[in-house]
Amino acid sequence: MRGRELRGELDAFLAETELDLVAFRRDLHMHPELAFAEYRTTQRIAERLTAAGLSPQVLPRGTGLICDVGSGDGPTVALRADIDALPLQDEKDVPYRSTVAGACHACGHDVHTTVLLGTSLFLAQQAVAGLLPGRVRLIFQPAEELPGGALEVMAHGGISGVDRIFGLHCDPRVDVGQLGLRAGPITSACDRLVVRVSGPGGHTARPHLTADLVFALAKILTELPAALSRRVDPRSSLSLVWGRVEAGTAANAIPDDGVAEGTVRCLDEEAWHAAPDLIKSLLESVASAYGIEATMDYTRGVPPVVNDEVSVEMLGEAAERVLGAGAVVPTQQSLGGEDFAWYLESIPGAFARLGTRSPDGVTYDIHQGTFDVDEKAIAMGVRVMAATALTALCEVGPLDSTVTSALA
Ligand SMILES: [Zn+2]
Ligand SMILES: [Zn+2]
Repeated sequence: MRGRELRGELDAFLAETELDLVAFRRDLHMHPELAFAEYRTTQRIAERLTAAGLSPQVLPRGTGLICDVGSGDGPTVALRADIDALPLQDEKDVPYRSTVAGACHACGHDVHTTVLLGTSLFLAQQAVAGLLPGRVRLIFQPAEELPGGALEVMAHGGISGVDRIFGLHCDPRVDVGQLGLRAGPITSACDRLVVRVSGPGGHTARPHLTADLVFALAKILTELPAALSRRVDPRSSLSLVWGRVEAGTAANAIPDDGVAEGTVRCLDEEAWHAAPDLIKSLLESVASAYGIEATMDYTRGVPPVVNDEVSVEMLGEAAERVLGAGAVVPTQQSLGGEDFAWYLESIPGAFARLGTRSPDGVTYDIHQGTFDVDEKAIAMGVRVMAATALTALCEVGPLDSTVTSALA
């Protein structure tokens, strides 16, 4: 049985390569690179793929790459990892701590990259042995955090001819050895909002002669999210949260301008489409009540990642086969944004949550300087991605009888 054989082949492969993969991850972790600056990371990946006999194609900007394994005939399944780090200080005390001030792999993309590298090396071996029933497109995507890297990959034909795409993300709330799955939306839309306000300033002794701009800005900060929650279906969970506010320089002077920045997150695609106009009209009504001018810059971010049901089944089937029964756990839709969503607007696929918490260990959070993973998750990720690619290749497109019998 190919299922049992596959598990044994993965065990043998990982017995030889797991330590090397952990070392690869630690090297990336020590040398994090921000969005669209992942030159060293891209070179490291390219070197390893080339050494395995593959032909990586670096994207024109020099960050991120695409590489095919297997023959052109038959179905094509894509596996995607994001490779960029975050502009955060690494706060861990570990030997593989970031050596770059203000940059840290705090979203686990070093793990995703390493998982896809391990998967690539395994699939390259399978292809040589004639066991790959189609083609696997490896996508090492730059700049997920910007976001924008997915669009860069797509602009260069990254998913043309691809039948189905899979990706995963570290989940520090799930134990290592488990995989969180959900059909339908699994992440949320995330946009950016910048509000600029202006009005005549003056002495704090005479607010009535000014627009009392700080007071008015404070009203915008509290009124806008409150009014939104009354104007939108609560099931869409549209939420505006401020992250930065700035106005004034002295305690006794009313400034004549100010700025507030925040994010707008949303579970539902319909509410997401309506959000900019609604926020603009609410902003104008609050601003006019206090006699100030307000303008907004609304930057569209990513739509929600909407997992295709059939692809989720493939992931689940593959994970149970190589991680064991009970490895698949349900997961909830998060309010985080993820640019994998853009691939899924064009082709079917699914995004999974890879457990990275040590059983009974600390529960970290992503986007924190303390974030770290149980590195056993790397081998788990390789098992899942490799098995998913093989499962999907056998189920996508016209089935070859030799392949079907091989997987039976
Ligand atoms: Zn992130
Ligand atoms: Zn991430």
